[in-house]
Amino acid sequence: EMQKSAKPIDRDSFTILECIGSGQFGTVNKGVVFLENQSSICAIKVTKMDSGDDILKEAGIMQSFTHANVVRAFGLCSDSGDIFLLLEFCDLGDAQHHLASLSQSDPVPMRIKIMILEQVACGMKYLDDMKIVHRDIAARNVLLQTPNSHNSVVRYKVCIAYFLHNAFLCRPPRAKVSDLGLARELDEHSQYTKTSQSAQLPVRWMAPENIMDFKANQATDVWAFGITAWEILSNGMMPFESLKNKEVIVLLTNPNLNISTYLMKQDHWSDDIYRIILDCTAFEPDDRPSFDMLINDFTRIVRNLGRLTVD
Ligand code: ATP
Repeated sequence: EMQKSAKPIDRDSFTILECIGSGQFGTVNKGVVFLENQSSICAIKVTKMDSGDDILKEAGIMQSFTHANVVRAFGLCSDSGDIFLLLEFCDLGDAQHHLASLSQSDPVPMRIKIMILEQVACGMKYLDDMKIVHRDIAARNVLLQTPNSHNSVVRYKVCIAYFLHNAFLCRPPRAKVSDLGLARELDEHSQYTKTSQSAQLPVRWMAPENIMDFKANQATDVWAFGITAWEILSNGMMPFESLKNKEVIVLLTNPNLNISTYLMKQDHWSDDIYRIILDCTAFEPDDRPSFDMLINDFTRIVRNLGRLTVD
């Protein structure tokens, strides 16, 4: 297995600011990092050394990637028992919370949501090209950034002006795939990588074959992407909301499952966008589209929407 290790960052090079989120591993804080003669706003994942195995893998995987739709890692610092993973800052937070918080006051237009999905598909295709299985793609792991935002501290005010400008133009936020804590390199021999049986599993996002024998590959990422698309179109609703986790497992492992009765289509969704969700969640892995095909579909749908609507 290829070993990737993240760039070490000195504890003196960054400052930790307010807490902006938390997860299984610890907290996420906003911060400022001084690197290469420039101060940048960043997100800092803080975790204890003994739970740090995943975060080391995550850091190594993330730092070797450069793609507009994958969250970048600045590097890693370990200091008296704590591990700090410094990430590119996404000012709008994760897509699930962002869409849910706006859904009443100022709902995000359909066209923007489709453009978010197109970007997520691009990030996923990139990971796929790098032979990485994400294994935890979900709206909570899609981070959003104001378009043209400058995380350089000096340019923060400029960024606010940009924000108003982009809101006016109805430009989509930048969407970035994050949380590669579960990501693994695809085993070339088996084409599958095993999911740990002990870890907490995101069953609502897991493909039937992944639930049944813990196999994860590109097709299981595509399934999870389909669930993510449904979440994003539904403004951050919980998939299979009426069911308990155990009931979801029973449901998804039934080959006669008609998923459209659970992941329901809303009236204002077009048939072709809903078709994508159903294609991604086909019971047979071979029936699911590739991320390449998905990108083409989204691009076509966005182009057609552009012709039909004024926004
Ligand atoms: P999971 O439980 O899905 O494994 P996690 O415990 O690894 O998630 P993250 O999803 O990495 O935690 O982060 C928790 C929250 O912190 C996110 O939902 C998001 O709101 C915020 N966050 C994480 N990374 C960033 C970032 N780079 N920029 C801005 N906010 C972030």
